[in-house]
Amino acid sequence: MANEVKINEIFASIQGEGPVVGYKQLFIRFCGCNLKCEYCDTEFEKGDIYTPQSLYDKISKEYNLGTFHSISLTGGEPLLSYKFLKEFLPLFNRKIKVYLETNATLSDNFSQIKDFIDIVAADIKLPSATGLGVNIMKNNFQFLRNCSGVDTFAKIVFDENITDEEIKFCANIGKETGVELVLQPKMDAAGMSVGSEFCEQILDKFTSIYLNTRLIPQVHKFINVR
Ligand code: SF4
Repeated sequence: MANEVKINEIFASIQGEGPVVGYKQLFIRFCGCNLKCEYCDTEFEKGDIYTPQSLYDKISKEYNLGTFHSISLTGGEPLLSYKFLKEFLPLFNRKIKVYLETNATLSDNFSQIKDFIDIVAADIKLPSATGLGVNIMKNNFQFLRNCSGVDTFAKIVFDENITDEEIKFCANIGKETGVELVLQPKMDAAGMSVGSEFCEQILDKFTSIYLNTRLIPQVHKFINVR
């Protein structure tokens, strides 16, 4: 059977999250996800079918890759398509950086393509914000252990329901793995769902356990790009 996947969209934009915020990236959105976060507002079911070579040809023809900081593999969950990525990513021959956005639950799949990834943007899924069980957060911990050797940060979306137990658990993930933690307030129609004072309090709680933590809201929503 041909190694094909469904791609929801390909577009150029500015990264709005985490430490590489503000850089221009070429986003490739993969269809499908293995989780159901309560706050998910991403459309990732419809798309067009590609082989590794046909996707590479399309991208090379339509975009000047030399003008991008990196390619962002996003979703959905790109690691569901690890067999495709295993053939697709070597086609770039390391001419551009590869940035992987992942829900950090598919550790074995990640191991298969780890050598081709330059930056990992991994989630830590708080039960209080996502409605997911605590096992997913434990799974995230395992995934982050497996990222050693790759430039990695962990994004934590939080709202007013974040608990002290969650803060302790996440800060200890940071301590053990050494990854930078990025706190991202959940957004609603009016902007940040929590006030700046609350954000500061949460950041203080994190940094009292693990200093390599910072707060970065979703900047693309302020500058009005995708
Ligand atoms: S992991 Fe990401 S894409 Fe999947 S349901 Fe959660 S927010 Fe949506």
